[in-house]
Amino acid sequence: MSSGKFLVQKFGGTSLADLKGFDASADVIESHAVERRVIVVLSAVKGVTDLLLQTIETAVRGENGTQYLDQAIERERSILNELSKLGTSTPLAAEYLKEQKSTLIRREEGIRLLGQCPDETRAKILATGEGFSSRLMVDLLRHRGLDTQWSDTDVLPLANESWLDSLVDIEAAEPLLSQRLEGGARITVLPGFYGRNSDGDIQLLGRNGTDYSAAAIAAATGAGLCQIWKDVDGFYSADPRIVSNARCLDEVSYDEAMELTYFGAKVISAKALAPLAGKQIPCEIRNTYDPSKPGTLVHAGAERTHVVRGISYLHDVTSITIQGGGLRGRVGIARRVMDALASEAISILLIVQSSSEYSITLCVRRADEIKARKALEEEFHFERLHGLIEEISVQSDRAVVSLVGEGMKRYRGIAARFLTAISSAGVNVEVLAQGSTECAIAVVVKGEAAQSAMRACHTAFFSDSTHIDVILLGCGNVGGELLAQFQRQAESLRENHADLRVRAIANSRKLLVADDVLDLDCWQENLEEKGKPWSIDDVITIREKLGLLNPTIIDCTTDEALAAQYVRFLQNGFNVVAANKKANTASMDYYREMRDVAAKNFRKFLYETNVGAGLPVIDTLQGLMRSGDELHTFEGILSGSLSMIFGMLEDGMPLSVAVARAVDLGFTEPDPRDDLSGMDVARKLLIVAREVGMQLELDDIEVEPAVPMEAVSHVDRSELIEALQTLDEDFSAKIQAAEARGEVLRYVGRIEDGRCSVAIEAVPARKPLGSVRDGENALVIHTRYYQPIPLVLRGYGAGASVTAAGVFGDILRTVWRPLDHQGGPS
Ligand code: ADP
Ligand code: ASP
Ligand code: MG
Repeated sequence: MSSGKFLVQKFGGTSLADLKGFDASADVIESHAVERRVIVVLSAVKGVTDLLLQTIETAVRGENGTQYLDQAIERERSILNELSKLGTSTPLAAEYLKEQKSTLIRREEGIRLLGQCPDETRAKILATGEGFSSRLMVDLLRHRGLDTQWSDTDVLPLANESWLDSLVDIEAAEPLLSQRLEGGARITVLPGFYGRNSDGDIQLLGRNGTDYSAAAIAAATGAGLCQIWKDVDGFYSADPRIVSNARCLDEVSYDEAMELTYFGAKVISAKALAPLAGKQIPCEIRNTYDPSKPGTLVHAGAERTHVVRGISYLHDVTSITIQGGGLRGRVGIARRVMDALASEAISILLIVQSSSEYSITLCVRRADEIKARKALEEEFHFERLHGLIEEISVQSDRAVVSLVGEGMKRYRGIAARFLTAISSAGVNVEVLAQGSTECAIAVVVKGEAAQSAMRACHTAFFSDSTHIDVILLGCGNVGGELLAQFQRQAESLRENHADLRVRAIANSRKLLVADDVLDLDCWQENLEEKGKPWSIDDVITIREKLGLLNPTIIDCTTDEALAAQYVRFLQNGFNVVAANKKANTASMDYYREMRDVAAKNFRKFLYETNVGAGLPVIDTLQGLMRSGDELHTFEGILSGSLSMIFGMLEDGMPLSVAVARAVDLGFTEPDPRDDLSGMDVARKLLIVAREVGMQLELDDIEVEPAVPMEAVSHVDRSELIEALQTLDEDFSAKIQAAEARGEVLRYVGRIEDGRCSVAIEAVPARKPLGSVRDGENALVIHTRYYQPIPLVLRGYGAGASVTAAGVFGDILRTVWRPLDHQGGPS
């Protein structure tokens, strides 16, 4: 046979789920058969092998397994029925099904009576799935007028005696296949999953063995190409069902494919890679349902500059640790562990020894856990008896997450990045191991944490843009405006490689968490319809659920209880951006704790909008303090609403009318008394004071309310304006008196001589504060450096747009550039 004459195509269960799948597979075969002779190897109809297995397991327990058998047969029959309705005849498949049905029913009965199923019988039963699908494909291709033959697997002689996990003797298969194919039809279809021994009996090639059948046939015929047709576009950087933004890879090397599949990537069976790699036969992974896509090429020439090619995970793993002082310095412990498990035919997924030689940890499949424990307990019976080792500890429900790439051999710092990503997802690494081919690193983690670890690693190694993941709590004026700003800026951020993603939104009643990212076009409706009542725990778990590396919680509420949770947020790996002033005006102890926890957890706590909305107050003060400046005096108009109200008073408007106007213009808190009481200004002044190093509590601020609160505190909100009318005259008189002295009244926060006070002050009309009105804020800061002319910050200090813009600025400052995609060569 001339090299490369044949094309081998394997279709798996996902390509053979129903008639549509068979048709799509037949299309693929037909289009390739035009150019080359094709050898087609088929799996069973999707789910049939599992159902046959369930039939056996049920019957072994003495229970009736026919329900599962019926389901398996029904799956196959329904495809035949559909075809016959379309007028397609299926002589081979129909005949086979009829014949097998009675045999299978008999066998199930036999197993049930005996209470056991010999491996030989098991192999015969399981192989019928492939027997059926391969015949059906021959019928279909013939119906299309294609020159097609069916071949049994007697051309695949076996290299060992295992009934359930056999190997093909590839050398011996060469002449047999050659003979079968010589002068044969253009298309040859074989059942996958089994070969036949020298007695002609069926021996299986292991679960998912059809990949191996195809690889063995490709190796034995020296095929030019082996194609594995599936329901996905190719080999992905991670399981696309877990990592939604996994990428389809153009190519991978045999070693990379081996590591990825060994630790769980269900793309091509690990066993199939050896014959392909041995003969250097390139292998394509392609999508049956979208054959125009190029797929992934597994070949020897895959370029090696990639640091990391993919991430995989294997679940249902048990980790076993043997430890004790008695192990130290003793030769041959690891060998005894391996021998003990090998004698029970248990394969060890990974094994590591601590450098102190004090402990050995290994992983096996959960199905082998009981056997493995027993084998090790027996092997180390003496040591256990004499206290040389402690009890063997067994941890079920573990998973192995591995990172794979040929480039790892040459680049530094990959393990560190890997571990950082996993820990930033809040996942604990129990064991770290380097893969056998040096192109993989694997960690053992708790099973339930594996998916978050996978997602976090994927982000760390595969995202070429900075992710800004946010959770917005409070979506009233400021929060709503912020979302609108996100939408407007999304495009330009993306151009700058920043991807801002809103992962959850909440108001006081409901929380809406995205499956992936929230659609901002209709967040209001979605929050109302799909949002759920929530607690803080629901927010905390989002990070793990979505595998976020550096998420930020944005607090646009005024809620004190929420502010009390910042420490928890920071501890759990969230940055906090707060428009809410309550946290920074809580006790000095809490104030310090937030900063400590943020530093220890490498998270940011930002609150630029706490004072002066969008004005750069906090950042400016911090900059001054860091450069060694110190505050002498501070005076400021810190309330946008009071700035507006006092401006209107100056124009001669009565107090009650001015307040009503400010409310109408949306410049006050929902209840304007919150502004008039002066508490809002007191909080801002406290924040400024703490920023410049004063250790004060809110009670230390001397507050004179903007209006005598006893005149308004007892009335209902709806009667407030009326109550204020009683003060109109008094206010007008004060304003006029000030005017006569060339002064205006302003509501001022002041820090002077270690005292902080908030009160109405009469200030010269021509001084900076005298001209501040209409909602403007002004901060006049005298410091060691800024004197005698002070540093003055002025501008709108209230309003949804400027505040939201300030919050937005903070969010952008939380960005921690993800690990660059490519590391530097060592
Ligand atoms: P078949 O039996 O048809 O060969 P399988 O059911 O064994 O197919 O596997 C197909 C599934 O494997 C895909 O649908 C995909 O969700 C999953 N999968 C897991 N890891 C990967 C990966 N790294 N790349 C592509 N698919 C993967
Ligand atoms: N049908 C067999 C299984 O499910 C073989 C295969 O699909 O590759 O294990
Ligand atoms: Mg399969």
